[in-house]
Amino acid sequence: MRAVYLDNNATTRPDPDVVAAMLPYLVEHFGNPSSAHAFGAASRQGMKTARERVAALVGARFADEILFTSGGTESDNAAIRAGLAAKPDRNEIVVSAVEHPAILALVGRLEAEGRIRVRRIPVLPCGCLDRELYRAALSPRVAIVSIMWANNETGVVHPVEALAEEAKAVGAIFHTDAVQAAGREPIDVDRSAIDLLSLSSHKLHGPKGAGALYVRRGFRFTALISGGKQERARRGGTENVPAIVGFGKAAEIAAPRLRGDAARMRALRDRLEGGLIGRIRDALALGARAARLPNTSAIAFADVEAEAVATMLAREGIAVSTGSACSAGSNAPSHVLKAMAGPMAEFGAVRFSLSRDSDDDDIDRALSVAPEIVARLRRGAPRAAVARTPDQPEVAHV
Ligand code: PLP
Repeated sequence: MRAVYLDNNATTRPDPDVVAAMLPYLVEHFGNPSSAHAFGAASRQGMKTARERVAALVGARFADEILFTSGGTESDNAAIRAGLAAKPDRNEIVVSAVEHPAILALVGRLEAEGRIRVRRIPVLPCGCLDRELYRAALSPRVAIVSIMWANNETGVVHPVEALAEEAKAVGAIFHTDAVQAAGREPIDVDRSAIDLLSLSSHKLHGPKGAGALYVRRGFRFTALISGGKQERARRGGTENVPAIVGFGKAAEIAAPRLRGDAARMRALRDRLEGGLIGRIRDALALGARAARLPNTSAIAFADVEAEAVATMLAREGIAVSTGSACSAGSNAPSHVLKAMAGPMAEFGAVRFSLSRDSDDDDIDRALSVAPEIVARLRRGAPRAAVARTPDQPEVAHV
């Protein structure tokens, strides 16, 4: 059975050229980049090239605006805390209701500690941000606004450049989580009013364990991790040089082919989505009327739990995810689907997410298998047949 990987919003396959670029930094260039000798210099050079490549991918004017981190989650945490530190006389944070838990869990914790007030802006059933409520939430009390570039569950893209302008008008800092957008959507941060932007290597065919935070020059940044003077004293700790080098290579590969890859993924995604909706009655593509990433399709099937569909697809060798947070045997819809409050939110949604590796055979296979699975479940497949296996994680917001 041919394995079909349609879960690229969870993670992507490292490009073979990325792996090849990393290898020398695991073998001969093992020096600590802070060391003064030649071993250190080789590692430093690898990081310098990586920084320039990541800066180029997002249109940063200066390479030193790229701060390397351990991934998207750390970048998001660093951004929120740095934003609060930069505006000590303000105590409100504005976020969307559909942010990744890397943002929502942190701001929830800060709120519970009584440190800040959080304004969570709802989305409309299309998945788009409620612009009126967004504008109403902006005030001189807001320290930082954090709105994601693209949502990981639905692919819905928010107009962050316009949102950043509005946030700047009240003197707030603007952060965007561009983890799902980078390498799939053109990003030109220098042309925007965005102050801080999060990236993660493993979503764009780089290795896990590396990410970056774009920090606009002039921003008074307070480190999340205290320690040595690495990353120009903005992040303590010896850098993960091989992963950073791989991240840089991934950025270098993605940049020139971005538009072509996006067009190819969009055509495949649209064929998959159109095919499923055409073959399965009462199937709804979430966020399909909004601006969306070219690679993502989240589909709800009436009367069928998305989790059951995903489990049965997995048995057929087709890897997807769901927009459900499953706990204690109940499949509650994710916070994103709840926030969209669409007609079929209670069933969850099956997320198909493509990459530049996806091809027509993947789509044909999904189209040949999924309709029959949904039909079988609708006829009443016994619940036990689709129960989670013990090694399946409980919550998958990736
Ligand atoms: N933000 C978004 C939108 C994501 O989809 C993810 C990954 O699931 C993250 C942040 C976290 O990134 P990382 O896995 O690199 O910590």
